[in-house]
Amino acid sequence: SAESAGRPAPASSGRIPARSRGGRVEIRGVHKSFGDLEVLRGIDLTLPPGSVTAVLGPSGSGKSTLLRTINHLEPVNHGLISVDGEVIGYRREGDLLHELSEREVLRQRTSIGMVFQSFNLFAHMTALGNVAEAPRRALGATRAQAETRARELLELVGLSEKVDAYPRQLSGGQQQRVAIARALALDPKVLLFDEPTSALDPELVEEVLAVIRSLARAGTTLVIVTHEIGFARDVADTVVFMDRGVVIEQGPPAEVIDHPAQDRTRAFLQRVR
Ligand code: ADP
Ligand code: MG
Repeated sequence: SAESAGRPAPASSGRIPARSRGGRVEIRGVHKSFGDLEVLRGIDLTLPPGSVTAVLGPSGSGKSTLLRTINHLEPVNHGLISVDGEVIGYRREGDLLHELSEREVLRQRTSIGMVFQSFNLFAHMTALGNVAEAPRRALGATRAQAETRARELLELVGLSEKVDAYPRQLSGGQQQRVAIARALALDPKVLLFDEPTSALDPELVEEVLAVIRSLARAGTTLVIVTHEIGFARDVADTVVFMDRGVVIEQGPPAEVIDHPAQDRTRAFLQRVR
């Protein structure tokens, strides 16, 4: 498949790729409901390889659900999502046109990393253990390979000194940087951040944003749900403003943040600033 070109077949080789390569994400007509509640009401977005997209919008507008559909954590009701041409969900008016096996879902999911507001580290594992775990399981890496790569990634996020620390011994900002290193350990083509700094004390926000900035320059395709408007303006090529399950407007930060065309975008920006 196109996806495997230039990319080692995970389980067979056990090699951990040296760095990330951005994937292309296509989202077409995506609808998602929970019972009677239609949370995504026809989302269309294209995320070119290596692009950085900031998603803004009020609480409850469907931002987390959108990330979760990209990462296969939620199936779509209809619509299509693809990463480098590989389809994640495709239904039309209830007709199931394409369904992936569980194995295929797991395989695709290794190419899409996710970082949550609440870090979600394994409490009983050190920073090194947290980062080395997934490549051992998902890519079949040996312990030595996984730990070598984990040390490199912890250095990349500025935590060389903390490889042997447990999560409870780390600040929130440090824990979130371990979580970012862990997401990078599978060499994702796409990395999704769901309000990565919302749970942090204000003085710890910048160290996490600095790591995300460095990833933005490294070429991984990033999607960042954030309320940090200044950060979104600095780091994003495209800002997407969502409200009530639809994209209200999208474009470069200089348009959407500095000169929004829509009243709802203006009202939101005034509230969060
Ligand atoms: P945001 O991240 O923009 O705050 P979410 O995507 O988390 O929004 O949620 C959008 C809407 O979907 C909210 O009304 C929320 O309560 C609802 N919702 C999210 N996940 C579920 C779920 N698993 N079951 C039922 N309702 C959900
Ligand atoms: Mg959310």
